[in-house]
Amino acid sequence: MKEFFKVKHFSKKSKARVGEIKTSHGVIKTPAFVPVATKGTLKALPPQFIKEIGIQVAFVNTYHLVTHPGGGVIEAAGGIHKFANLDIPLMSDSGGFQIFSLAREKIQNSKFKVQNNNLKLKIRLFQADVRGEEEPLVVKISDDGVKFRSTYDGRLIEFTPEKSIEYQSKIGADLMMSFDECTYYPATHEYTKRAMERTHGWLIRCINYKRKTRYRNFLSPVGPPPSAASQVAKNLVSSFSSSRRSPITDRQYLYGVVQGGTFKDLRKKSAEFVVFQNTDGVAIGGVSVGESKRKMRDQVRWVADYLPKDRPVHLLGVGQFDDIVDLVKYGIDTFDCVEPTRLARMGYIYQWSRILSEIFFPSVLATSGRLEKSLRAAGIPSSSATRGRDEINILKTVYKNDLSPVDEDCKCYTCQNFTKAYLHHLFKQKEILGYTLATYHNLWVMERFFEKIRDAIRKDLI
Ligand SMILES: [Zn+2]
Repeated sequence: MKEFFKVKHFSKKSKARVGEIKTSHGVIKTPAFVPVATKGTLKALPPQFIKEIGIQVAFVNTYHLVTHPGGGVIEAAGGIHKFANLDIPLMSDSGGFQIFSLAREKIQNSKFKVQNNNLKLKIRLFQADVRGEEEPLVVKISDDGVKFRSTYDGRLIEFTPEKSIEYQSKIGADLMMSFDECTYYPATHEYTKRAMERTHGWLIRCINYKRKTRYRNFLSPVGPPPSAASQVAKNLVSSFSSSRRSPITDRQYLYGVVQGGTFKDLRKKSAEFVVFQNTDGVAIGGVSVGESKRKMRDQVRWVADYLPKDRPVHLLGVGQFDDIVDLVKYGIDTFDCVEPTRLARMGYIYQWSRILSEIFFPSVLATSGRLEKSLRAAGIPSSSATRGRDEINILKTVYKNDLSPVDEDCKCYTCQNFTKAYLHHLFKQKEILGYTLATYHNLWVMERFFEKIRDAIRKDLI
């Protein structure tokens, strides 16, 4: 456990800390951003650019990978790292979020179908298309888990706590999540409590099942007869290691997930329960599901005192710049979010100087005098502190003839080599390169942002 996570510096100003998560696929310097590679790909970004950008870790979705291509195919390939040629630490979710959120979307969509000229429906379908997601056809939700039919082939797929761990073992990400029910805003106290208790019961089952699986892999080479797929995986594995243990399962670390919705008493109760279980890490789930930013931050603040000092803490599904700085102060080490990559594919390009001047420096520096000085030192005019959003929409006509770099203050490959006018042209013509260049840039900016955060914590500025 001590080897897995180590805090290098606790801030004197807040609960923020700089640390290292060690996995068999590399070290993650925290706080860190975890871009989302839903189906085993950071959409539009070839893996060869991952290290160039400085991406330390990525997130894959168990629901999507189990639906297609299926756990067996990934296991036979030697795990998702090899299958997708992703040579960095990976984190997988439990599948719960997708099942519950997509089931909810389905219900909403069916309402919209009554009025199919509805603009909202068109936007929703467009967004679903951008996400590249398919809706599961939920058959049954119970205390035991969820059953649904695959939208690819009608196959009945079951997610229980045990199945979730089994699927995640086959995928083989370094960091895995316990199976949880994510409640949505607004949900009643009664329903949220029931979902939280269910989640706690599922956590115990996940821990027990993982322990048993680990026992089987560590100590009993006999065990049940392996499936054809796992036999192939073992053959692949034996060429890399003389150990008889599966290198996939025994290097996976489990995070317990805190739930409890927007209710302070439930959040505290859930944090107490989950932290007590002594899992390898702790995650906070069920936030940013429709509630206000203030409510979202409250949910993290309420549990900040319960979070472990010697284990990593992950926040599921949050990744906006202004939230990140504040949430790091509560002790969050890692954040996963689709925002930078999804925005990139929609033509929204982050503007580094605005992010620094409007979000980072004001959060870090208390007095306006220091802010002015820092802006000048960074070569940013202080007037920019009052400008608009932290991204531009490259599809706007105003960029048609704009031959300035995509972001003048960015040193990434995209900005060093291409103009706004060219990117505008690519997006207008739906050329694939546009999505790649925009994704490259947004992730580059996100990584530089986290470098700044780690540096500020080391200096006790946040
Ligand atoms: Zn750039």
